[in-house]
Amino acid sequence: MSPHFGFSCGWDIVHACDYRCPYCFFIPSWTTHAEETNGRHLSCSKEDWLGFWDRCFDQLGAFRIELAGGEPFQHPDIFPLVREISRRHAIHIVTNLSIDARKISAEFDPARVSLSVSFHPSHARVEELLPKLRGLKRAGFELTTSIVAFPAHFGGLARWIAAIKGEGARCYLNPFQGRFAGRDYPRSYTQEESSFLRANTFSESIDIRMRRERPRGRLCAAGWRYFRIWPDGTIHRCCATTELGLKPLGHIRDRVVPVLPDASPCPADRCFAPNELAMLIDA
Ligand code: SF4
Repeated sequence: MSPHFGFSCGWDIVHACDYRCPYCFFIPSWTTHAEETNGRHLSCSKEDWLGFWDRCFDQLGAFRIELAGGEPFQHPDIFPLVREISRRHAIHIVTNLSIDARKISAEFDPARVSLSVSFHPSHARVEELLPKLRGLKRAGFELTTSIVAFPAHFGGLARWIAAIKGEGARCYLNPFQGRFAGRDYPRSYTQEESSFLRANTFSESIDIRMRRERPRGRLCAAGWRYFRIWPDGTIHRCCATTELGLKPLGHIRDRVVPVLPDASPCPADRCFAPNELAMLIDA
C-alpha cells in the first residue's frame, strides 16, 4: 500500500492537570493511582525527548505533533521543549489555557505552533477565556476551540459557542463519553441534543464518535503513520490500544523509531479522538 498520510502523533507529555473536570475519562488511573499518574513524565528527561524528535525527523521526516496531556503546560520543560522541537516539526497544543496566554505569544512562533483550546465551564468562565483568545489571534496563532457536550452543561452551550465564535475562533463540541444520571453517553443524548451536537462537531466519522458504529476490523493507519506517546516515553498505536492493555510499539529511547510496516485492522470497539479517527482508511 502506498502511503497517503504524512506522519503525525498524539503526544501526552504529562498526565497531570490543574483541572479535574467531572466528565474527564481520558486517564482513568487518576482515580486509582493518582501519584504514579501525575509523575509519569519524570522518567524521561528533556534530552530524551529532544533526541527522540531528532531521530523521528532523520528517519521519517517532519511530523505534525498534537501535544496534549493532562494539561501540557503542567510539564516543567514545556517551553524549551516546544521552542526546540517546533523548529523541525509542526506542533498543535491542546490546552485548557489556564495559563497567562501572553507567555505563549512571547515564547512560541505562530508559524510553527497552533492551538486547540478546550473550554471547561466547570473550572473557567467564558468571559475570562475570550480576551486570551483575542490576544493569541492578534499574535497570529491559528486556533480552534472545543467544549465537551456534558449533559449538565447543555443549557449553556449555544451561548458559549456564540461568544467564542464572536472572537473569530471556530468552536467544536465533543460528545461526552461516560455515565451521567444513570445513563450511558453519547448513546443517551435526546434527539434534539444529538442534532445540536452533530451540527456543531467534526463531521468525520461522527457515527463512531457517537458510538452508533464500531471501528473494529476496519483498516487503520494508526501505528504506521501515527502513534500516541505517553509521558513515560512508551509509544502506543493509539488511545484504544492503551485502554485494551495491548503491548506498546516501543519506547522513545529505541534506536529505531518503532512504527508498523503498514496499515492494519482496528482492534477496538470505540475510537473517540478526532486526530486518531482521521487514521481510519475507508474500505
Ligand atoms: S480506528 Fe481508532 S481505535 Fe481503531 S486502531 Fe484506528 S485509531 Fe485505534
